[in-house]
Amino acid sequence: MDLSVVVPIYNEEANIVALYERLLRVLEPMRLRCELVFVNDGSRDQSLPLLLSLAARDERVRYIDLSRNFGHQIAVTAGLDATRGAAVVIIDADLQDPPELIPLLYAKMKEGFEVVYAKRRSRQGESAAKKMTARLFYRILASITNISIPVDTGDFRIISRKVVEGLKQMPEQNKFLRGQISWIGYRQTYVEYDRAERAGGETGYTYRKMIRLALDGITAFSDAPLKAATISGFVVSAVAFLVMLYTLYSRFVTHDYQPGWASLMISILFLGGVQLIAVGIIGEYIARLSANVRQRPLYLVADTNVQQPGAAAA
Ligand code: UDP
Ligand code: MG
Repeated sequence: MDLSVVVPIYNEEANIVALYERLLRVLEPMRLRCELVFVNDGSRDQSLPLLLSLAARDERVRYIDLSRNFGHQIAVTAGLDATRGAAVVIIDADLQDPPELIPLLYAKMKEGFEVVYAKRRSRQGESAAKKMTARLFYRILASITNISIPVDTGDFRIISRKVVEGLKQMPEQNKFLRGQISWIGYRQTYVEYDRAERAGGETGYTYRKMIRLALDGITAFSDAPLKAATISGFVVSAVAFLVMLYTLYSRFVTHDYQPGWASLMISILFLGGVQLIAVGIIGEYIARLSANVRQRPLYLVADTNVQQPGAAAA
């Protein structure tokens, strides 16, 4: 098997057939032995029947039906676990990532790279808020992590078998694949592309899921928030100490102190806020620690035509 294409599917009935056709139009001229691995991530629409009918018609189509919605990163992981190709492409189902870029990714890889990621030169049809938060997130992440996670890059990329095997050895429950792939290293490069609008249907990425992904990325690759909590603790304590000295001075030396509830309120609220933030940051890390300690399987498979689905998941 030369090439596997992994596609996570969450309510993509409007796009599956178009995606399949565009993929084939691109893959067939490449004359490779290839497979398409579709992972149904608990869709509530007609996605699964569509996948089943594609699989019945075309033996290159393989599907994994997860037992519920596990989220995009886990769906991709399930797909990767099932791939057999020497090279693996990860692509979104909504045609925002153009399949036409695959030959270029593949050619670049053949020049001797283990990872060729697709970097967004521009993105269309997404709200200004989403673009801005994404931009900001990638830059914050880049500045506080000690591995270089490329900015403005999603999961659309080609990776080699070596990298897939590397990912399988990373047992974390809270996946942030683009970060993990950077962590893995080897020779990596990128090509640029213009991200299209979603072809049909609606985004499955709610703000809630995006915030979770962002926190997963940050907590998995940086201790900076914890350090920031410590530093802000010191700074606030230092300020509080100075204020204390001033209070004692005005009480016992100058005797001109006021019954000032304003300053009292402000310092109580301020300290309370800092403490809660610090506790919250610690909580984010502890939550992930406990998720990993539980050692649950990453996902469960309801149905598949893959021989050994998730052999690596157990
Ligand atoms: N997706 C998924 N599970 C989810 C949400 C999304 O498998 O819980 C898939 C979705 O079908 C698509 C890809 O992940 O193939 C990217 O999702 P989407 O296009 O909704 O994200 P956006 O492009 O808006 O960031
Ligand atoms: Mg999309």
